Amino acid sequence: MSEVRVRFPPSPTGYLHIGGARTALYNWLYARKHNGKLILRIEDTDAERSTQESIDGILKGLKWLGLNWDEGPYFQTAFTHEHKAAAQRLLDEGLAYKCFCTKEELEHKREAALSAKRDYKYDGSCRNLTAEETAAREARGLPCVIRFKVDRQAPGTVSFNDHVLGVISRTYNDIEDFVIVRSNGKPLYLLCNVVDDIRDRISHVIRGQDHLGNTARQILIYRALGARVPEFAHMPLTLDLKKAKISKRSHGEIVAVQFYQQRGFLPWALCNFLALLGWSTTDNQEIFSREELIKAFSLERINKANSIFNYQKDNPKFFTDPKAISINEHYLRTMPMAELAPLVKERLQAAGLWQDDYDGSRREWFINTVDLIRSRFHTLNDFAEMGRAYFAEDYEFEARAVRKNVLKHEELKTWLPALADSLEALPEYNHETIEAAMRGMAEDLGIKPGILINGARAVTTGRLAGPSMFEVAEAIGRERMVNRLRHKTAPLYEPD
Ligand code: GLU
Repeated sequence: MSEVRVRFPPSPTGYLHIGGARTALYNWLYARKHNGKLILRIEDTDAERSTQESIDGILKGLKWLGLNWDEGPYFQTAFTHEHKAAAQRLLDEGLAYKCFCTKEELEHKREAALSAKRDYKYDGSCRNLTAEETAAREARGLPCVIRFKVDRQAPGTVSFNDHVLGVISRTYNDIEDFVIVRSNGKPLYLLCNVVDDIRDRISHVIRGQDHLGNTARQILIYRALGARVPEFAHMPLTLDLKKAKISKRSHGEIVAVQFYQQRGFLPWALCNFLALLGWSTTDNQEIFSREELIKAFSLERINKANSIFNYQKDNPKFFTDPKAISINEHYLRTMPMAELAPLVKERLQAAGLWQDDYDGSRREWFINTVDLIRSRFHTLNDFAEMGRAYFAEDYEFEARAVRKNVLKHEELKTWLPALADSLEALPEYNHETIEAAMRGMAEDLGIKPGILINGARAVTTGRLAGPSMFEVAEAIGRERMVNRLRHKTAPLYEPD
């Protein structure tokens, strides 16, 4: 295969959408797999809708995801002269023509076609204007667009062999003479995108199926400009459970990459999830390291059918697709502590919970504690939220934990302070001695150890569930445990 050169060409009209991130990811994977190049091109020709904020957001999002590019960012507007020159060349060679039909005329023809139940297609009335007629109309200052001249005499179809969908064909007859330059002189997407892909020597166009309808027309432009037509791979769309396209308007923040960053996702976990949104291996493996995914990825294994983003709006437990959350949990649980620790540090700093000795004299404690509590966490934010009791005294109590594990047993009001005394008196304080103390006390009281253990958990961590309470008690440390059991128990029984 000659050099693989792929591109990610977002239009900077909004935030980086997870669908866009998936397109970037598939292109990145393909480039990395084939030692090729990924070109980033900002398609900013729509001046009204393009914003600097959007450009910044896209670049930031790609960097956060770790999807590095090899060339660019190029800006489409820097090449307007090339787009115009290409249109001129097509005009000069008789492969395009100026069309003076007015909006009203076209609308009229469209309506006539509709009422006769015919598909509407521009009838080419300006196709055969002579050079003199065209010049005369221009001299009168009549506005015109430039249309590409589809070769009606050509027999058959425009075909291409899509890497995902197989052979796709469109008959010439179905393709109207489409507009490539607007009446205000602005070249349109179909043309600009091809001119840029030719200049950037793109070998493979990997993009969403929403562009499938453009491909045949773009192939005609490639041919008319005498350029090599790239390979195409059209990826399935991502729909919600009701089969609607996912969008910010109907789904809110969860469609923006930034949301995942803010919610404490690990960037590679999000990439791993996005990879599975429309691609799979024969054995349905779900967790891939970066290297594994690069190796396993192929265009041919991209699904033809649209992928489903399993977001249940009214289920607070899953603030996004549960698969995304479970993949994130997997990485949180298993990634090397040396990589996780700085990320947790960032979150604790942001929440005002960081102490410098976590990097110094209490480094070991910090690492052990993070390692202990990560097994139950969903995102990095949980370290400062669900895990607040490990790093601060002003943690909150889950209502269910208090109701179920404290208030239900009035006697805990005296038992837990008594447990504090026994922990205080332990000659050695570690999870084994703590376990012995708790179980021993439960036995003496003739109660199930769970009552004491869950009560202690609720009071000292605020939580209903968590890792082994004996290890939790060791991590929190003797002094804080004793204090909390002594002073935080009774207030829970007081009415608000
Ligand atoms: N700017 C276009 C978009 O964001 C690019 C489409 C393409 O990949 O050709 O949809």
